[in-house]
Amino acid sequence: MSIEDAAARLRSDPTFALDWALPALDMWLRYGCRCAYCGADMIANRDVAWFASTTDHLLPQGTYSEYANASWNWVLCCRACNSYKGTFDPSGGKGLEDARPEEVVVIWLEASKSYVVAKRRGLELAFARQKERLLEVMNSFGKVPLAASASVGSKLR
Ligand SMILES: [Zn+2]
Repeated sequence: MSIEDAAARLRSDPTFALDWALPALDMWLRYGCRCAYCGADMIANRDVAWFASTTDHLLPQGTYSEYANASWNWVLCCRACNSYKGTFDPSGGKGLEDARPEEVVVIWLEASKSYVVAKRRGLELAFARQKERLLEVMNSFGKVPLAASASVGSKLR
């Protein structure tokens, strides 16, 4: 099946009306319907497919508007990873220079993945402390969620 036939087939189902323009379908195929940064299944369920799947711009579009619509610059990823990556520039400010995209995209993907993983780790540690504080406050009002009550204060000291 050609990619054009595949896109037409997907578009023919009005209940599955994600944007199946060829560059978008190409991106979903390249990343195997998974977040390029954390590996989350972007078709795990309808909510994920519709609300959590995003297109990241490997070279951030705010800095490199000339590549905003270049499909090689599109990366399928979840909303959280896209947020963590933010305006991170995996080229270190160099952009494409004289390289061809296929020569640098894999390197930039790895750099972006490392950046996202490190950022997530730091924010998760901060969140664990915030959550513990919130649960202590909730507990003081007798409102500790059952699933959380067993772990309050026990894991993060
Ligand atoms: Zn992700």
